[in-house]
Amino acid sequence: MDIKDHIRSIPDFPRPGILFYDISTLLAHADAWSVAMGRLAKGISRYQPDVLAGVESRGFLVAAPLALKLGLGFIMVRKRGKLPGPTVPYEYALEYGTDVIEVQADAVQTGQRVVVLDDLLATGGTMGASIDLLNSLGANVVGAGCIIELSFLNGRKRLDVPFTSLVTYD
Ligand code: 5GP
Repeated sequence: MDIKDHIRSIPDFPRPGILFYDISTLLAHADAWSVAMGRLAKGISRYQPDVLAGVESRGFLVAAPLALKLGLGFIMVRKRGKLPGPTVPYEYALEYGTDVIEVQADAVQTGQRVVVLDDLLATGGTMGASIDLLNSLGANVVGAGCIIELSFLNGRKRLDVPFTSLVTYD
């Protein structure tokens, strides 16, 4: 099964000139979604995680089923102001301006092996920030994974952990 056949590209979203890779069609196709999650589970299990982390919001759609499949827990990396209780924020650079992600202060245990998941790796800014934030809390981030990698943006080079993707666009 070619997972690419189930990913749709939509021009000029969210801004003119941007080609957006839409995973809605993959999510809606039971067999393709199951195959995609099976392949990604295999890819990331090599990193021997203790727990998975997902990046809001499409990263949750990837991390939660993989956590269930691998018998692991799941940590939410969210946008600012969404998580209750004490949180730790992390500011990172975007193409224009900055953004802030957060996790709950007690989300990880020291030395815990974490694999971080999202739907798509573009510049690697979001994934890199999530890895840095979790490591700063004492986690041992051992790998990262996405369904889609835009390899022409070299996001993988920004990550200092092994990275797995299912489909690449170059
Ligand atoms: P980066 O930080 O690597 O430049 O961008 C990746 C983040 O932006 C991910 O959280 C991803 O969900 C989102 N993103 C950027 N472009 C796309 C796209 O074309 N399709 C999807 N599904 N997400 C995208």
